[in-house]
Amino acid sequence: MGEMSVGDLSRTVAETEQAATLGVYLSVPFCRSKCSFCNFASGVSSAEAIEAYVARLCEEIAWASRRAEGLRVHLPRSVDTVYLGGGTPSLLTPRQIRRIFLALRETFQIAGHAEITLEAAPGQIDDALLNEAMSQGVNRVSLGVQSFVDRESAAVGRSHTASGCIAEIHRLQRAGINDLGVDLIAGLPHQKEASWQHSLQVATGMGLKHVSVYMLEIDDDSRLGREVLAGGRRLHADALPSDEATAAFYESACKWLPAQGFAQYEISNFAPAQHRSRHNCKYWQRAPYMGFGLDAHSMLLRGENAMRQEGAAREGTGRAVRFANPEDLAGYLKGELSPVFPMLTRSAEGIVEIGRPEAFEESIFLGLRMTEGVNLRQLRRDFPVDMVAPAEGAAGELIQDGLMLEEDGRWRLTLRGRLLSNEVFTRLLMGVAA
Ligand code: SF4
Repeated sequence: MGEMSVGDLSRTVAETEQAATLGVYLSVPFCRSKCSFCNFASGVSSAEAIEAYVARLCEEIAWASRRAEGLRVHLPRSVDTVYLGGGTPSLLTPRQIRRIFLALRETFQIAGHAEITLEAAPGQIDDALLNEAMSQGVNRVSLGVQSFVDRESAAVGRSHTASGCIAEIHRLQRAGINDLGVDLIAGLPHQKEASWQHSLQVATGMGLKHVSVYMLEIDDDSRLGREVLAGGRRLHADALPSDEATAAFYESACKWLPAQGFAQYEISNFAPAQHRSRHNCKYWQRAPYMGFGLDAHSMLLRGENAMRQEGAAREGTGRAVRFANPEDLAGYLKGELSPVFPMLTRSAEGIVEIGRPEAFEESIFLGLRMTEGVNLRQLRRDFPVDMVAPAEGAAGELIQDGLMLEEDGRWRLTLRGRLLSNEVFTRLLMGVAA
């Protein structure tokens, strides 16, 4: 084992603490209407279906310990991040939000300093819901704006306007939501460099704390994807910018946002250091999290190994388990309770053991998503040379190709590398034996 610097040591302590706490994701897969590009497991449902879903979600939370026992994984009780995502969780009623937090508090201890995020659609978070959410501890809101240009939002089926979004941002700020962020999408129909710049400028001129920028990915199974495949013009399919233009929008965001104080900390995320999404960082830093609800994913460390093996707690090199819930709403709602919660174990093939090769791959591709990159000394210390050496060979070529950098003992993606991240990951991991 090589010598540790003070920086490495404090990082190790922080990571060990992080492994002892849990991030909780709550999936609320309901929307008022379906965006044309969206292929998430989300949709428009009746009030009765939402009520039944909340009941099932609370049952699932209550069964978390039994489920963890069944999978022989360690379930930390202390929760320091909660994320209500979807879908549009701001469509829940105050009573439903209260019920969900009651269920959470019966099973977990939510830390006093916990980051609790609510995803919301502009114009779809009423006062009563906001008050209840804040009284339950919600201290962060992520607003799905997508664009501050009406024509672009309308083209993908969003009902909000730019002026409505701006009013909503002011209202949330006045209500005391300090940690407020927006999502923007590069590559929407009708988007041009000037309109994209307009959205970026509005986003950075309102005292927001976080901006996420996603390049539009059109899934073949979405309505827009099918129209594009058919070569049609409906859903503004013929007004989509080219891939090159979308990449240029992303590049301009990567330059503009940091210049306005929103440092890029991950491929799609920009914020001052104290306003990063602590919950999402858990995904990229391989810290434990448990997801509840439709299509929710989890990663927990193996039972006894989890906290005893210092290496596992520190770097996630010990064994972990990833598992996912069903994507089918009817199936999720029909699930019957039993000691092992059968509706969830039906997807047993979705349970993935994370051994050393998988941990190595994740350390690389998740680490590279973050701007701080992959710590090479830790990589060499925690993984055998027959895994690290081929990746180092590939890294040399990627550095020559201008897709990666090696600086301060870390591998990082260049701007071009971020655009071609999948290619980088594939080349780096090609030589890793499964
Ligand atoms: S609001 Fe989000 S989850 Fe709902 S349809 Fe639109 S993109 Fe999909």
